[in-house]
Amino acid sequence: MGEYCHKIIAIFYIIVLCFIPFNKANAHNYEERKKVLYISSYSPNYETFSDQLIGIKEGIKKDVDIQMEYMDSRQFFDKEDNSNFYELIKYKLKNDKKYDAIILADDQALEFGLRYKDELFKDTPIVFLGVSSEKRIKAAMQEENIYGITEKHSIQENIDLINKLHKGKNIKIITDASSQHLYDHYKGKFINEKYKNLNIENISLNDISFNEFEQKLKNLDDNNVILVVYSYLDKNGSLKTIKQSYKLIRENTDIPVYSVMDYGLDSGFIGGKVVSHYTQGKKTGEIVNDILNGNTPKDKIIRGEEFNNFVFDYDKLKEYKIKSSDLPKNATIINRPMDTLYKYKEVIYANALLLISLLIALITLTSYTIKKLQYEKELIKAKEFAENMNKSQSNFISNISHELRTPVAVIMSSNQMLDINMNKVENEYTESNSEKIDIIKQNCNRLLRLINNIIDIAKVESGFMNIKLVNLDIINLLESITSSVIPYATSKNIDIIFDTSHEELIMSVDPDKIERILLNLISNAIKFSKDDMSIHVNVYVDELNNVLTFSVKDTGIGIEERYLEKIFEKFTQVDDIMVRKNEGSGIGLSLVKTFTNLHRGEVKVKSELGKGSEFIIKLPIKTVSEENIQQSQIDKEEPKGLRAALEFSDIDF
Ligand code: ADP
Repeated sequence: MGEYCHKIIAIFYIIVLCFIPFNKANAHNYEERKKVLYISSYSPNYETFSDQLIGIKEGIKKDVDIQMEYMDSRQFFDKEDNSNFYELIKYKLKNDKKYDAIILADDQALEFGLRYKDELFKDTPIVFLGVSSEKRIKAAMQEENIYGITEKHSIQENIDLINKLHKGKNIKIITDASSQHLYDHYKGKFINEKYKNLNIENISLNDISFNEFEQKLKNLDDNNVILVVYSYLDKNGSLKTIKQSYKLIRENTDIPVYSVMDYGLDSGFIGGKVVSHYTQGKKTGEIVNDILNGNTPKDKIIRGEEFNNFVFDYDKLKEYKIKSSDLPKNATIINRPMDTLYKYKEVIYANALLLISLLIALITLTSYTIKKLQYEKELIKAKEFAENMNKSQSNFISNISHELRTPVAVIMSSNQMLDINMNKVENEYTESNSEKIDIIKQNCNRLLRLINNIIDIAKVESGFMNIKLVNLDIINLLESITSSVIPYATSKNIDIIFDTSHEELIMSVDPDKIERILLNLISNAIKFSKDDMSIHVNVYVDELNNVLTFSVKDTGIGIEERYLEKIFEKFTQVDDIMVRKNEGSGIGLSLVKTFTNLHRGEVKVKSELGKGSEFIIKLPIKTVSEENIQQSQIDKEEPKGLRAALEFSDIDF
């Protein structure tokens, strides 16, 4: 019993393992993929074929097994019946699985389908496209399970268009054996009536050979415009592809050519209202898709002319001087230069961006250069202006200094003459006059000092104060200046004591300025000291820090602390003018500071009210590059001793 049980279970497993996966695989592979049979009236070589097929595949969308059969009816046009093709399809259907839908492309295929529908495609939905025969369309309408899209060439619209764009010209409509019925249909219907005022003529390849056709084309003058319906089959049954026949037309005439199909657009035709086999195919695909999804298509028959569009070639419009504003509103113009631009838009954008950036950079650079040049020009102008100003200011200062000094010098020399003359005669009268002569002399000195100081201030303020550095023995210089004032000090009973840490030190200074500094400080010390005091001039050389210090120390009236900084500002005087014992202008110390600073040195004051003051000058010890060691002579503008006389002119001796 147990053995049987095992055997039964094993057999069950084998059955399950063998069948289930295979069934599933079969279901997946064969049930889901639908089969469609596509029967074309023509062959794959025929231009309409590939456009239709691309459209159909796009319309169906899903992965469908499309099998194709070609009747090649152009080759066998009206020469054989379709019995052989029928046998072929019958044989195919016998061996193959049933189809989910049949697509019949163009008139011959629908004709075949209508004839053999019951025998070959019973219960299989049929969708046709590209059918222009009204008779066949009508027959299809009667049938159940047949859907489709018709094809109608827009002959009438193209005649209207040509008449509008080429008013007064003869219209030659080209047809062939395959399309003659179309023209005849139109001819009877409206060409003879509606367009009876137009000169419309039919060139039919049904009546002529391709050679005769060529000749006819060559004879067409500029008064003619061509509308091509079909042109691939001549009276001898010679066959050309659509494009070959278009090429033949283009090679034999230069007149404007319009066409009912878009294939002419690549062959030098202007365009026209054209059939789009691609759009027809796409719509057919959508109907097939509906059927494959188990739905009944919304429309049984769709009129294909609604997919015909006005399409024109840009270059040809230009060549025949046709304005795009004269074209129908919904017209499409192909091969525009803009189309090419659009195609390469990314490259063009990138290049344009690069170009714009370069342009911006160029403009910025140019404007920067222009601005820089302008700025430089303005700078040169301003410099010239400033130089002129400086020149005139410098001229003014030297002129004014000359103008002010000259009269004083004249007074002084006249006074001197007077003094000499006075000394020759001695009496009471001359004695009192001699005092007056001294007063004149002292005041002239005072005036000269004031003029010098004011001119110096003006020089400092206008930047004309220069320093003329020379290498010299500074100790000797300071000592010699100090010595020059001893006579003045002695007359006031003041001792001047000169003390120095070093006997000699060569450094670069402007001796003239150093003299002015020291004389000013000593004259202040005398001015603000009582008689019988002593003044110390101390010199100290700090070799470690390379600093020369000299100071003038008195035991005079001293300065209140709050004035210590202020006294170096020009025109500052501490004592009130009303109670001032000494003359002065308040310029001296400001010049001392300026001259010290010109030497890159500094001036300090230590003072205590009632006890005395010490003015300390510190100068860096340096030498100028040229070894220009001078003796301690002072380069004076004034005669020797006059400088001291001037500096001491404020003091009443
Ligand atoms: P001034 O021509 O009036 O002397 P300065 O600039 O030389 O001008 O001095 C400015 C003021 O500083 C003086 O008026 C005085 O009040 C004060 N001062 C200068 N030196 C001394 C000094 N050694 N003792 C006291 N006061 C001084």
